Amino acid sequence: MAGSPAAKPLSVEAASAQLLAAARTIEGSERLPTSDCLGRVLAEPVISGTDLPGWDNSAMDGYALRAADLQAGGGWLPVSQRIAAGQCGTPLAPGTAARIFTGAPLPEGADSVVVQEVCEPEGDGVRINAEVAPGANIRRRGEELRAGTEVLAAGTRLGPQHLGLAAGVGAAQLRVYRRLRVAVFASGDELAMPGDSLGPGQIYNSNRFLFRALLQALGCEPIDLGIVKDDREATLAALGTAAEQADLVMASGGVSVGDEDHVRPAVEQLGHLDLWRVAMKPGKPFAFGHIGETPFIGSPGNPVSLFVTFCLFARPFIERMQGVQDAKLPTPLMLPSGFALTKPAKRRDYQRARLEFDGAGQASIQRFHSSSSAALSSLTWANGLVVIPPGATIAIGDPVAFLPFAGLVPGDRGL
Ligand code: AMP
Ligand code: MG
Repeated sequence: MAGSPAAKPLSVEAASAQLLAAARTIEGSERLPTSDCLGRVLAEPVISGTDLPGWDNSAMDGYALRAADLQAGGGWLPVSQRIAAGQCGTPLAPGTAARIFTGAPLPEGADSVVVQEVCEPEGDGVRINAEVAPGANIRRRGEELRAGTEVLAAGTRLGPQHLGLAAGVGAAQLRVYRRLRVAVFASGDELAMPGDSLGPGQIYNSNRFLFRALLQALGCEPIDLGIVKDDREATLAALGTAAEQADLVMASGGVSVGDEDHVRPAVEQLGHLDLWRVAMKPGKPFAFGHIGETPFIGSPGNPVSLFVTFCLFARPFIERMQGVQDAKLPTPLMLPSGFALTKPAKRRDYQRARLEFDGAGQASIQRFHSSSSAALSSLTWANGLVVIPPGATIAIGDPVAFLPFAGLVPGDRGL
């Protein structure tokens, strides 16, 4: 039984593989203006309607000519026409040059462009003070790609560069998957909202903000069910509503083994748990199950545990549900440790870490002074996680596995 406290925690790899295998891409897509598609996932490939470039054109501001009309070292040619970007010239008269600008179509008969920096206007012509090789400074029709080529595959998450390319091949609209609806709630009698006054024993509900921001950064539509009390009936009601409204249900807290942990037993009552507990720190009581057809992900209540398990497990799962084709874990970088570890951990430990550089540009990995999974300040200090295998001791300079937040944390802006 996945939910039994006696069951052995799964390895991180086994848990990842089980989640990814269970993720089903949602049905339903919409056609949107290309400019509204940032962060969305393509449901259909983008096929180029044109050759790129569409015609031979000049890569520089300069003069278009026939290389054979010049002697070695250059020469003088009359200028017979002027072609700016957006204009089409006429066939180039033999023995003449055309003034031409970047992106303008090459006139028929010309075979090269000389950059203006090596030219001097002289009379009604131009003196060229350089050797000119045929084909110089010309972008050939179709040299980047041909009409009919698939330029973006279905399942691509659209960043600015993808939108630029789609527009460049003439796509005014794109078919993207509809937004994934994710219902979230935070369980815990101790939770209060920022802005409320804290009663005795109360803490602020960080997880609501973490969930919402992580989901928004992934392009999901969060359905926020707020705070749910540590009470079986309230938890059953929240889970039932969530599963009806959403493609995925996520909750924080209440998945451990305490008497006040109602989320896990409530999921088992309404549906079933497929996975519970992963051999890692933080994040051990991570839970995955189904309520009817709707998948459920339960994160431990500690904010750092939620953050780490979201990035490692929920993110690839959500991406696959969204239709992303290459949803996978980032590859760790092996870098020298800037800290020593003498007391080995029992479980694989994902400590908050920072890639730092000394004056000579040498990289080292530092870790946060505390490994408390309640310490959110560790996450704002860090720019990644250092992965410490169970039983390992580490000396300064030993290679350690570092997972940068860029590539791990939705919306992270890099190191
Ligand atoms: P639980 O997983 O419910 O046992 O909670 C573990 C720890 O996380 C407890 O110290 C909780 O107070 C804390 N916690 C639970 N939910 C939240 C939340 N939404 N925001 C901040 N801390 C939380
Ligand atoms: Mg709790």
